[in-house]
Amino acid sequence: MPSALMTTYQHLPVAFTHGTGVWLWDANGNRYLDALAGIAVCGLGHAHPKITQAICEQAGRLIHTSNLYEIAYQEELGKRLTRLAGMDRVFFGNSGAEANEAAIKLARLHGHRAGVEAPVVVVCDNAFHGRTLATLTATGSRKAQAGFEPLVHGFMRIPYGDLSALETIAQHEHEVAAVLLEPIQGEGGINLPPDDFLAQVRRLCDERQWLMMLDEIQTGMGRTGKWFAHQHSGITPDVMTLAKSLGNGVPIGACLANGPAAALFGPGSHGSTFGGNPLVCRTALAVLETIEREHLAERADRVGAWLREAFTTRLDHLSGVTEVRGRGLMIGIELQRPCAELVSNALAVGLLINVTADNVIRLLPPLITSDEEAGQLVDLLCPLIERFLAKDPAA
Ligand code: PLP
Repeated sequence: MPSALMTTYQHLPVAFTHGTGVWLWDANGNRYLDALAGIAVCGLGHAHPKITQAICEQAGRLIHTSNLYEIAYQEELGKRLTRLAGMDRVFFGNSGAEANEAAIKLARLHGHRAGVEAPVVVVCDNAFHGRTLATLTATGSRKAQAGFEPLVHGFMRIPYGDLSALETIAQHEHEVAAVLLEPIQGEGGINLPPDDFLAQVRRLCDERQWLMMLDEIQTGMGRTGKWFAHQHSGITPDVMTLAKSLGNGVPIGACLANGPAAALFGPGSHGSTFGGNPLVCRTALAVLETIEREHLAERADRVGAWLREAFTTRLDHLSGVTEVRGRGLMIGIELQRPCAELVSNALAVGLLINVTADNVIRLLPPLITSDEEAGQLVDLLCPLIERFLAKDPAA
């Protein structure tokens, strides 16, 4: 029978019935090592007892009221998040795209306040910011945009990590209100910018009074070894967006703002029916407490460094491997040729991975991955890469 679902996803031929930690099981009892964590969502793995407990308790008490009323857990989560980020205020939505929509709206308000008629947000090649019309426009993929024209006005694009391109814009463009970028590009291929790039963008934003807006939807919540990836650069953005592992699978997005940017929205200027309801905020609070109590950012840093080293050593003899890179538990293994078939090959041996940007194996394992499980990941993946590269690409 044909599926009733729109064909936006080409599903792999597997459905999972349950999970624990880094492991998932299908209906036939096969076990899989989940090195993708629902694309950086399940940072605490599957069925973490603290998260299950928070969801069950809150679902039995109160799931939703409305933002027409005060929500104590939303206040508490806002306080915890802003304290961790050193920022002033937060708006809660339900997804990454919505968090970025809020950021883009802040940029426009900021531009209009400065007397700019048609404010521009500078974004990057190969960026991924979501699938709504504005975030799709910000996304640097023609493939994702094709067919959805006309796109949204008010965006300008530079190569990722290219400071001189941004400086040229600073000299010649007078309508810029903000820069929006990922501290490390995820979908784009686990791309790291030059070491001082974020600090230089911060400097330029200060000089030009642009908002520095960081999309930490994939990099945030401990994944790169600090709460937020920009903290490696010792800067604070004006706006930061979060989603994915903030709720460990319960849908929540957040747009944090600092300084004057935190005062741009007023009553009625933005909103969300579900955003920040008691269930998701209580869950996200449990996520924060667990990351803190179990020192998971530190673990991501240590296990991630070990994994990158192990992959580099094990794959060193293969000329088809271009680079092993990343930060914390956000790891990319770039091959010299497209390797999408590795996803099915890995599934067949009980391993969940992703391939992005055609030829980059993307690993985003849960932050709770043990040393032993990290070893199992290397032992499962390396022979697959070896076998794939040994095969004649024309065959
Ligand atoms: N921004 C980044 C960096 C992402 O990786 C994603 C999702 O992959 C998004 C935004 C969009 O998030 P969502 O799918 O929750 O709308």
